[in-house]
Amino acid sequence: MDDFQELARRRHIAMVAHDSKKLELLQWADFNRRTLSRHTLYATGTTGTMLTFELGLEVTRFLSGPVGGDQQIGAKIAENVIDLLIFFWDPLEAQPHDPDVKALLRLANVWNIGVACNRASADLMISSPLLDNGYRPHRPSVESVRDGWSKLRAT
Ligand code: PGA
Repeated sequence: MDDFQELARRRHIAMVAHDSKKLELLQWADFNRRTLSRHTLYATGTTGTMLTFELGLEVTRFLSGPVGGDQQIGAKIAENVIDLLIFFWDPLEAQPHDPDVKALLRLANVWNIGVACNRASADLMISSPLLDNGYRPHRPSVESVRDGWSKLRAT
C-alpha cells in the first residue's frame, strides 16, 4: 500500500474510559492493537497514559477527563479533527463531570461522528469495511445544524 492509500485509510480516533471501564478498554485496545496503530490516536489523560505505557501505542493525551479532557476532545470533534469516538462510560456510577460527559456525547452526535460506547459497538466499528474503503460520513454544515435547531424551536 502506498503512502497516499495509507493516509486515506487513517482515521483520527479518540478514546475515553471511566475508571470502572479502563480495564475493559485496555483489553479491547490490546486485542485491536495492530489496527489501532495504523490510525492517529487521542485520549483523555489517564486513559491515554494507560494505552501508551501498557500497550506502547502512540497517543496524543489531553487533560484527565474530569478536569477538562472530555471538553478538549469535544472541541476537536467540533474542529473536524476527530473521526471516531470510543467512549466506555460507566452506566452504573454518577460522575462528578457528568455535564462534560453529556457535552461530549452531544457534540459527537451534532457532528455525526462514529461513537462506540461499549465493547460490542467498538468491535463492530473498528472492524467495519467502511474504515478501509475511503468512506467519509456526511459532516453537517454549521448552517444545517443551526437550521435544525431553529426548526425544532419553531414547532
Ligand atoms: P481519564 O478521563 O482518562 O483521565 O481517566 C476519563 C474520564 O473520566 O472522562
